[in-house]
Amino acid sequence: MPHDYIATIGLEVHVQLKTRSKMFCACAVEYGAEPNTNVCPVCLGMPGALPVMNEEALKLTALAGLMLGCDIAPHCKFDRKNYFYPDMPKNYQISQYDLPICLDGAVPLHDLAYPKDAQKSIATPDKKVRLTRIHLEEDVAKSFHMESGTGIDFNRAGTPLMEIVSEPDIASPEEAFAYLTVLQQVMVYGGVSDADMEKGQLRCDVNVSVRRADTDKWGTKIELKNLNSISGVRRALAFEIPRQIEVLEAGGTLQQETRRWDDARGETVLMRIKESAHDYRYFPDPDLLPLEFDQAYVDALAKGLPELPDDKKARLISALGLSTYDASILVSEKSVADYFEKVAAGRDGKLAANWVINDLLGQLNKVGKDIENAPVSPDQLGAIIDLIKDGTISGKIAKDLFEIVWNEGGDPRQLVESRGMKQVTDTGAIEKAVDEVIAANPDKVEQARAKPTMAGWFVGQVMKATGGKANPQAVQALVK
Ligand code: ZN
Ligand code: MN
Repeated sequence: MPHDYIATIGLEVHVQLKTRSKMFCACAVEYGAEPNTNVCPVCLGMPGALPVMNEEALKLTALAGLMLGCDIAPHCKFDRKNYFYPDMPKNYQISQYDLPICLDGAVPLHDLAYPKDAQKSIATPDKKVRLTRIHLEEDVAKSFHMESGTGIDFNRAGTPLMEIVSEPDIASPEEAFAYLTVLQQVMVYGGVSDADMEKGQLRCDVNVSVRRADTDKWGTKIELKNLNSISGVRRALAFEIPRQIEVLEAGGTLQQETRRWDDARGETVLMRIKESAHDYRYFPDPDLLPLEFDQAYVDALAKGLPELPDDKKARLISALGLSTYDASILVSEKSVADYFEKVAAGRDGKLAANWVINDLLGQLNKVGKDIENAPVSPDQLGAIIDLIKDGTISGKIAKDLFEIVWNEGGDPRQLVESRGMKQVTDTGAIEKAVDEVIAANPDKVEQARAKPTMAGWFVGQVMKATGGKANPQAVQALVK
């Protein structure tokens, strides 16, 4: 019988900041540019070139810190982290050592941030993962290994990179997934980063150890390097935790090592064994002055903080009367929230929420499209809702109209006119249809006399006869 084990996980996440220029020079930050076109002596690491700080990067880092509840350090500085790396010709990375910009803070794990299949069995609801620090550094260049050798692209060298370090508070692959999902959301909400993992704008290193539940002694920490998708982190941990347990249960010992995740094989693979802790010989970068964040600057930033998912959710619930579940779905991605708020502006919030969640998101999900590429715009969906509200069309016809706009585009109001989709509110026409249905079904009329709930059947028939265009309330009244 195997023992019970506890997994301890901490994450280090590198987030590429959304600045126009690099951290210490004026070169453009541009994804997918021709290799080595956005370079200068500073980011190529030429001797004697001097770095100049990018103020926007400092601001975005402080902003990220404020959004995650960190303290912004009044004094901080940049240090040189010395090591050899083929795509870092200076042989040091400008980073922050003992005085980072942000300290403490936390990442709240929302239910909907967990993987879909795990949302019903969340071990610790409302959990918060504490942050140790957030520091700012420069990215290194990127190597491309080709058949005939290795090419280095310096476009990425010097890109501002924020490193967000968590406390070892994470206990499962699912929590790691939720943590990264929330982090990504917050970055996008705040305009701090596009946090697109496919473009390498959010990269993750994982530290994981296991220990028996009946001991307090921490297990051996093993590092998983350079994971580049949130689901990849989950899969890697779901492999690595049982692997470590298996070794221990078999009486073996684990050693401090660095492993990489092989997604194709679905397993972690040994990269190198750590013989001793790295000595990076950090020292303050003599080319850069220490930094002071004055309180007035931080206060102003805090005042201008963008509305975060949690706050937005609370507002949608209290101001629009949405359910917690609906509000959670709508704020889960900034693009969805933006879309919804355009549709809901000046309209019935609940109706707008129903249409966005059930119809729009439902349909997008079915065809595998992002909301950014939705064939129905917020204006078009808003117009459909207006047509329901002013009684021009019924809710049922609105579904057909939505289909038409989805497939063919066009102005909903014009479509209703040109395709004769208007609701029939003319009682004369409805009366005629009711009479016809009654005349054609004398047996049902008999039944209805004994059982008044049968009226519903007549309403259905009349709606069918009018192609769904009769006003349902009018039909009901007339049938009665
Ligand atoms: Zn440059
Ligand atoms: Mn780093």
